[in-house]
Amino acid sequence: MSTDGVPQRTGDNLDPWYANYAERASGLSASEVRALFAVASRPEVVSLAGGMPFVSALPQELIQDAMQRVMVENGPTALQYGGGQGIPELRAQILEVMALEGIKASVDDIVTTTGSQQALDLVTKLFIDPGDVILAEAPSYVGAIGVFRSYQANVVHVAMDDDGLIPDALRATIARLRGEGRRIKFLYTIPNFHNPAGVTLSAERRPEIIEICRENEILILEDNPYGLLHFDEPVPNALRSLDPEGVIYLGSFSKTLAPGFRVGWALAPHAIREKLILAAESAILSPSSFSQMVVSEYLATADWRAQIDRFRGVYRERKDAMIEALSEHLPQLSWTNPNGGFYVWVTLPDMLDSKQMLPRAVRELVAYTPGTAFFADGRGRHAMRLSFCYPTPEAIRTGVRRLATVVNGELDL
Ligand code: PMP
Repeated sequence: MSTDGVPQRTGDNLDPWYANYAERASGLSASEVRALFAVASRPEVVSLAGGMPFVSALPQELIQDAMQRVMVENGPTALQYGGGQGIPELRAQILEVMALEGIKASVDDIVTTTGSQQALDLVTKLFIDPGDVILAEAPSYVGAIGVFRSYQANVVHVAMDDDGLIPDALRATIARLRGEGRRIKFLYTIPNFHNPAGVTLSAERRPEIIEICRENEILILEDNPYGLLHFDEPVPNALRSLDPEGVIYLGSFSKTLAPGFRVGWALAPHAIREKLILAAESAILSPSSFSQMVVSEYLATADWRAQIDRFRGVYRERKDAMIEALSEHLPQLSWTNPNGGFYVWVTLPDMLDSKQMLPRAVRELVAYTPGTAFFADGRGRHAMRLSFCYPTPEAIRTGVRRLATVVNGELDL
């Protein structure tokens, strides 16, 4: 700002307010691949990049009916502010959803949020001072890494394999950080159909992870938007079911119903819940009454379990198409083969760099997310995430064929 109050450019930065931002705003950087994704949304590009649920598989009429009934029967309430914790009817239904993964809880301990993304933000706001350590799988959800960065956390990754987070790696990481005198606030984990890795934490490892965190007084933030979208066996019981006092559980209707409602929730240990509600109220006053009531009406009147089954069928067919196409066209690569969710994690040979390769892929009309997006420490160049949730099986096959042209071109085959 100049002395006469007229904002001025600072150095080469075109934003006249650049010098006025809070330090934490430096954590809010646009993804380096954002511009390419804008190109990748052209219809001729097969995008294996985004994680958009296939909402066209939803029963539109049932949702329309639910909206109609909410407005006819409870219009003024739906259009009004509500309580900061969310409407009790929906919270009671959320208990039924969570019971499918072995969770027993009280409606009083659930806080409805604007998607689980907001719950991630609130929990981070409550617990993180600049420089605090958050443990997260290697790789981890790009949207969580973004939130953690915006609160100036240090994200330290912990290795995982086909059975999820590795307990010994967790122990070793905690010991190393403790030795360095660093403060670990929580472990952020996606136990089921991991975004982006596609793997699931085994039943055997779950109590061990709980035990390690308990011994070291580390809170667990369990993020589970995909658990009900299994292709075969249901997933093992939630971490939260094993330790109600040590785990904050995050759930969402974005993948089992529709992300457009922006309805998710946090189930917090009793002691944390009150702070979470206060933080939510200060951020948004109350979650959308209208959205919550429509979701609640849908759950009460539609066969939501059968709808989740339909989603499973759609995603299973797409996953099979992706794995078959990878086996056929890119046998020299390796990948995870998920039993649910939306994502396959592909590992490339060391001489390939997925970020450098992306412009070439977009020229060949296929897009993916480079592995670097899922690490806070610059790793991931030799990996990529492929999503099978949105394109049709046919488009997936076309996309993987195009990807093979790109990879083979880079390898000079
Ligand atoms: N966590 C994970 C692991 C996710 O993949 C997503 C969505 N991509 C979210 C949280 C946020 O979901 P929402 O806010 O729509 O509930």
